[in-house]
Amino acid sequence: MVENLLKKHSLRITDVRKKVLYCFVEKDVAWSHADIEARLTKEYDRVTIYRTLNSFLEKGLLHKVFDDSGVAKFALCKHNCNEHQHNDNHIHFKCEVCSKVICFHDMEIPHLPVLKGFTIHQVNLLVQGICSECQEG
Ligand SMILES: [Zn+2]
Ligand SMILES: [Zn+2]
Ligand SMILES: [Zn+2]
Repeated sequence: MVENLLKKHSLRITDVRKKVLYCFVEKDVAWSHADIEARLTKEYDRVTIYRTLNSFLEKGLLHKVFDDSGVAKFALCKHNCNEHQHNDNHIHFKCEVCSKVICFHDMEIPHLPVLKGFTIHQVNLLVQGICSECQEG
């Protein structure tokens, strides 16, 4: 699956790409650079991981997720994003208990009224609460 995803987005298959992408596929949450680094500790240096994440971002494999931590996070794209355009117009959810951030891919951000004299390029919507796993516990 990881190899197919790389091929689909015309990325050459390398070991580091496979391993980084596998993190996102295995656990479909938002990962920060530090999370990935901790996971692949000692295998790859930070620059290699940073470059890998950036190439995924460019090719429409990952999108950026903004939460209140001030740290850039990344999550898998779902809606046929590609090199030229991302279509990740969905809500993100942050759990107040376990701090994970997940994509609500099917929940679109509602259209905002256009303000005269302003151009909107991007809207980020973060919903906070308690995730289903933490509810059960
Ligand atoms: Zn995307
Ligand atoms: Zn939780
Ligand atoms: Zn997302």
